[in-house]
Amino acid sequence: MVPMLSPKRAFECEEIALEARADIGIRAGDLLNPEILADHLAIELRPLVLYSSDLPDEVRHLTEEARSAFSAVMVYRKRKRMIVYNPAHSPRRHVNTIAHELAHVLLEHRPTKLLDSTGSRIWIAADEEEADYMAGALLVPLSAVEAVMDRMEGNLVDAAEHFGVSENLMGHRVEVDRDSVQVEISELDRLVGGGRPVPQIRSIETEAASIAPPLLA
Ligand SMILES: [Zn+2]
Repeated sequence: MVPMLSPKRAFECEEIALEARADIGIRAGDLLNPEILADHLAIELRPLVLYSSDLPDEVRHLTEEARSAFSAVMVYRKRKRMIVYNPAHSPRRHVNTIAHELAHVLLEHRPTKLLDSTGSRIWIAADEEEADYMAGALLVPLSAVEAVMDRMEGNLVDAAEHFGVSENLMGHRVEVDRDSVQVEISELDRLVGGGRPVPQIRSIETEAASIAPPLLA
């Protein structure tokens, strides 16, 4: 199994994602169009079909019978960067694909060759894991998950629609949000609880909740 991103690295990804959003003038709770971010980063988006005249069989294969096999690849040519993507995918898969490729750029992952000497795809698992996390952070920032889910009255379908992402990704981000609260509680327990049992922390939470309404009033 692939190890989870460390909390510190995940936090950094969230920060970088919010900076990228700010750069294109949107806030954490807004929908991010990755094509606008690509444009901002001077990265050209090229649908695979642009290569139809040079590689007709390959393009047809990847956009028809084997359409799940290829999502996108970042190509570096001199000082230019471009993402060649499969246009045969659903809009929400497309959004995730482009966000994933932009994540590699924002995280400054080193470009590698596509294939090794044996013809196998070069795959750096740690970079891919980070890019997957970062794509989620870009599209659905953790800092906005709770507020948007509240606004949508807990409806995952509506929240996914709001961010323009798949329900699968939205559900995953809700889980990450819950997990990060768990990490926070256990860290807090370690710091202030010492050897005391977890219920001590629960009582602190209850206390905080009980004093909240008068403060808000
Ligand atoms: Zn990747």
